[in-house]
Amino acid sequence: MSQKMPTKVSMEKIVSLCRRRGYIFPSSEIYGGLSSTWDYGPLGVELKGNVKKAWWQAVVQRRDDMVGLDTSILMHPKVWAASGHLEGFSDPLVECKGCHRRWRADELKGDKCPSCQGELTEPRQFNLMFKTTMGPVEDEASIVYLRPETAQGIFVNFQNVINTTRKKLPFGIAQIGKSFRNEITTGNFIFRSREFEQMEIEYFVKPDTDEEWFQYWLNERLSWYQNLGIKKEHLRLRRHTSGELAHYAKCCSDIQYLFPMGWEELEGIANRGDFDLVQHAKSSGKSLDYFDDEAKERFVPYIIEPSAGVDRSVLAFLIDAYDEEPDKDEIRVVLRLHPSLAPYKVAVLPLSRKEVLAKVAKEIYADLRQCWMVSYDDAQSIGRRYRRQDEIGTPFCVTIDFESLEDKQATIRDRDSMKQIRVPISELKNTIQAKLEGEDLFVLPPGGKVWKEG
Ligand code: ATP
Repeated sequence: MSQKMPTKVSMEKIVSLCRRRGYIFPSSEIYGGLSSTWDYGPLGVELKGNVKKAWWQAVVQRRDDMVGLDTSILMHPKVWAASGHLEGFSDPLVECKGCHRRWRADELKGDKCPSCQGELTEPRQFNLMFKTTMGPVEDEASIVYLRPETAQGIFVNFQNVINTTRKKLPFGIAQIGKSFRNEITTGNFIFRSREFEQMEIEYFVKPDTDEEWFQYWLNERLSWYQNLGIKKEHLRLRRHTSGELAHYAKCCSDIQYLFPMGWEELEGIANRGDFDLVQHAKSSGKSLDYFDDEAKERFVPYIIEPSAGVDRSVLAFLIDAYDEEPDKDEIRVVLRLHPSLAPYKVAVLPLSRKEVLAKVAKEIYADLRQCWMVSYDDAQSIGRRYRRQDEIGTPFCVTIDFESLEDKQATIRDRDSMKQIRVPISELKNTIQAKLEGEDLFVLPPGGKVWKEG
C-alpha cells in the first residue's frame, strides 16, 4: 500500500510553482491543452538539461567502461517483434487504477487488481506503442512505431559499438532520449505521460557475474540520487516478486521515491540475462555474441539495465527541494536544488536602477555569464528579488550597492542560509565557483569579509 508523504508539499503546489515561474506548462495550452503532454519552459529546460548532464557525467564521462549512443526513434518494425513489444502489448488488458499494473483480462480471477486489490479499468485491446506510417504510401508495409523505450536502439548496435570502440566486457552503453507509450492511465503531472524521456544503461557482463553487477548498479544508482540532494529517507528499493517480473527479466528492483501520492517507481534496474541479444540474433540472423580473447571463448553477454525516467527524476528533484519557512509575517518558499541542477547558478542584482550601478552590475553579469546561466533582475525591492530567486532555486545572489563603486566589492548571498559575504569583484568568479562546488560560504577569498550572518 502507498504511504502518504509526511511533508508540506502537495503536487498542486509543485504544479503551480512550475507553471507560475516557467518550469513546466501544459502542452498546446492555447488550444485547451493535450492530455498528459507537457512543455518545459525557460527554467524547466535548464533543470532538465542539468539532470541529463549530471547523469551523463556520472555514467559516461567519468567512467572508462561506458560509451554513449543516440539512436533513432523510428526503428525497423522487426525490432519490436523480436523484443516482444508487438506481441506482448496486444492482448485485451485491464489496468489497475491504483498501482497501474496491467493484467490480461482473460486471465484474471475476480474484478480487483491481484497485486493491490485496486479498481480495474474496462478491458481494451491494447498495444502501448504509437503507430505511424513511413513513406508516401499508407499501408500495412509502411507501418512503423515510435519507440516505447530507448533500450532496443542499444541492443541492435551492440556489434557496431564493439567493432568501433574495442570495448571489453564488462562495459556499458548509455543513451538518453524520447520514448512514447500510449498509456492507459496517465496523470500526476509529469510522472506518467505519453511522451517522455528516458536515461538508460545497458551494461554487458559475463554470464556468471550478472548478480554482482546487478547489485553494483543498484548501489550506484541509489547514490546518484542521494549525491544530487534527494533525502535518503525518501528513497527505497523494491524487488519485483517472481510473479510480476517482465518476460525478459531474471530479476528486477525498482528505486522508488516517496512522491506526494506515495511510493512510486523512479527507476527500474533489471537483470535481463541474455534475452535481448539472443532474440535479436535469432530475428536478424546476425551474430550478437562476444569473443573473450583471454578465455578464448565465445558467449552471449548478460545485460544489467538501469532504466531511469528524466521527467520523473525532474519531478522528484523538484519535490525534494521544495521548502517553506516562516519569514517575518510571510512564508519564504525556497527550492533547495543541488547547485549543479539549479537553472540559474547566480542572479546579479543591482540595488538601484541608477546608471552608475547598472553599468557595474551589467559588466559583472556579462562576465559571469561566460561560466554559467545567470539571471539579471533590477525590478522591485531587493527583498522581493531575493524571494524570487529563492523560489526558483538560484543558489547565489550577487548584490551591487553604492559602496561597491568605492570599495570595488559585491555581496554574495547564499540561498539556503540567507547569509552573506562581501568579496572583491575581481574574486567573484572564483569564489562562486568554489561555493558551487560545495565550499563553506565563510571560507573567504583574499580581501573578503563576513557581511551578514543571517
Ligand atoms: P510504470 O510501471 O511506472 O509505468 P514501467 O515499469 O513501465 O513504469 P519502465 O519500462 O521500467 O517503466 O521504464 C523505465 C523508466 O522510464 C521508469 O522507471 C520511469 O522513470 C520512466 N517511465 C516509464 N514510463 C513512463 C511514462 N509513461 N511517463 C514518464 N516516465 C516513464
